[in-house]
Amino acid sequence: MTGRRIAADFCDRLAVLPPLREVIAASRLSANRSLGQNFLLDLNLLDRIAGLVPLAPGETVYEVGPGPGGLTRALLKAGGQVVAVERDRRAVAALAPLVEAADGRLRLVEGDALAVDAASLAGAGAHIASNLPYNIATPLLVNWLSAEPWPPWWRSATLMFQREVAERIVAAPGSAAYGRLSVLAAFRATARIRLRLPPRAFTPAPKVESAVVQLLPAAPLLDIPLARLEAITARAFGQRRKMLRQSLRPVLDAVEAAGIDATRRAETLAPIEFARIAAHADPVRLGLPVVMADC
Ligand code: SAM
Repeated sequence: MTGRRIAADFCDRLAVLPPLREVIAASRLSANRSLGQNFLLDLNLLDRIAGLVPLAPGETVYEVGPGPGGLTRALLKAGGQVVAVERDRRAVAALAPLVEAADGRLRLVEGDALAVDAASLAGAGAHIASNLPYNIATPLLVNWLSAEPWPPWWRSATLMFQREVAERIVAAPGSAAYGRLSVLAAFRATARIRLRLPPRAFTPAPKVESAVVQLLPAAPLLDIPLARLEAITARAFGQRRKMLRQSLRPVLDAVEAAGIDATRRAETLAPIEFARIAAHADPVRLGLPVVMADC
């Protein structure tokens, strides 16, 4: 069957499933704050988000937190094979009819997205798409950006964050939002905000605004161990108002070797400048373990 035919067949089965509001009511999926449950119920918006995923026929989408299944439905309509990880047992039970309607294209895993092996579950070349639970959104993104080997198992990531976090991910040097997360994202990916959403787009409405960020893995800016770059940015942004000669005192020689003026402050350095410092820095003086040769 062609991708278009599979998606059309699914639409017929979807038509007999209850609307998302009924799924929520029937399974008493009243929003649990500790699980970051703010649901998207607007079908046009869900189709729009799923449409941002650069999905080719037969490709897999890894979704964190399907909840009542709004985005999952849209991803299945778009023709994807979906692997979804959900922590809330009530949502897992509520999704059983969707698993059946998806006819083998939806694998639902009950578990904690921070603990599962996403690479093995989704397989190489998968896309990530999620309206993320905001309380674990940053650690999840850091995990995905820290994947080894690089390029990673994921081909693209289309992710809903609270707006402040989205702005930190895409921030440029010199802005207040620029920090460790911006450097990490720029070091290994291209990232841009694709959609902004007001609180009223969600049920229940959160206190914060939201934005969808899309990340596409790229070649690293320099061939250096990621742990070294992160040790440098942790120190530099840990004292972001201080000059590098203070915040990076233990590796001042690396700052000089990279040709960077040590009177500058962290927020003025481009990601490639952090990478150059990391390339010259002694890992021992950064508190990193020494990697022994294999002999
Ligand atoms: N995808 C649905 C939507 O767009 O309406 C729900 C999104 S809601 C913001 C976040 C979802 O993530 C909830 O269903 C919640 O139960 C789930 N969740 C929270 N923590 C999780 C975790 N550690 N692992 C997997 N899922 C989690």
